[in-house]
Amino acid sequence: MGALHWCAGCSAPSLTRRQVLRALAAAAAAVLLPRPARAFPILGPSQEEEIGRNAHPDIVKRFGVLDSPSLQAFVARVGQRLVEEAEYTGFEYRFTALDSPEVNAFALPGGFIYVTRGLLTGANSEAEVATVLGHEIGHVTSHHAAKQLTRAYGLQFLTLGLIALSPGGREHAAKWATLSSELFRRILLGYGREAELESDEKGLRYAFRAGYDARQMVAFFRILQLKARLAGVAYHAFDATHPDTIERIDRARVLAEVIGPGAGAELRVAADEYKGRLDGLAYGEKGSGRRLHVHTVAAGETLPAIVHQTYGSDARVYEVALLNGLRREDEPLAPGQRLKLVVEAPPGRSLRLEPGPEKASP
Ligand SMILES: [Zn+2]
Repeated sequence: MGALHWCAGCSAPSLTRRQVLRALAAAAAAVLLPRPARAFPILGPSQEEEIGRNAHPDIVKRFGVLDSPSLQAFVARVGQRLVEEAEYTGFEYRFTALDSPEVNAFALPGGFIYVTRGLLTGANSEAEVATVLGHEIGHVTSHHAAKQLTRAYGLQFLTLGLIALSPGGREHAAKWATLSSELFRRILLGYGREAELESDEKGLRYAFRAGYDARQMVAFFRILQLKARLAGVAYHAFDATHPDTIERIDRARVLAEVIGPGAGAELRVAADEYKGRLDGLAYGEKGSGRRLHVHTVAAGETLPAIVHQTYGSDARVYEVALLNGLRREDEPLAPGQRLKLVVEAPPGRSLRLEPGPEKASP
């Protein structure tokens, strides 16, 4: 299942495998004398782009593209705002929302960036989504995947007997295809702790520069942490090389204070506007029939009352509070504030619950 990971690489349960890979890579380096240690070849931008372009169809095939032109456009718009604030790489960035229930985001070399439906339904503001996209852009501008590939390529050299990367590369289309799917496997294995922290910092910087309240990255981490706790999974137990969530939250909070524009700056969060975009979006596994219904709070409404009105009991108050990033079940709600509610839509029936302010409270 593994539905709680972001980005995928950060917490894939594959430490042992990676240790094995590292040992193999070290062995490879030893065999490939007289190369100096760490003398990996550097891929050029056009090669990175070519790898991304080759791997993109595999990702689309594996997850499916989210069928929502408005959300696709939204993700691309927020992404481009951040790209404008990032180091220039010459890449043409492409943003894709995938139809996967997992909470996930990842990047391919050359500027191909993905967020899942699970991440979009889990987030509570445009600023949160911006910091996630910023983190992934950070992987691209730091060339983390390309560096992984150059390491992996040494391994390929031994195990598959592939010849050296040819610049230009088009005559080696089949080899590129092999490499790109190999790369994808490695993206899921992770970039490692240092790279993740580097991308967190870059993501915060890009988001602040683009005018977002990047402190929302902390809010998003908290949700991930709570969800992991609820699922009975210790987040850090997944992968010791992944910065454990608590450390990551602390670092992000401190960094946000240090690099943020300080008190008084007008920064964009756009929580209610963002939630409004999610109304009717499928929730959870594909075909489960569950959807997000977005409720606009009327004057005097409380969370338990809204939950009772929607589900017929208030047993799910905590769940709804968590889904919406509310700290407490009795947190006061403001009129016009929006809340995400997960509702069941029977197959073949469109669902448009609108409890609305005109309904009398129970
Ligand atoms: Zn990452």
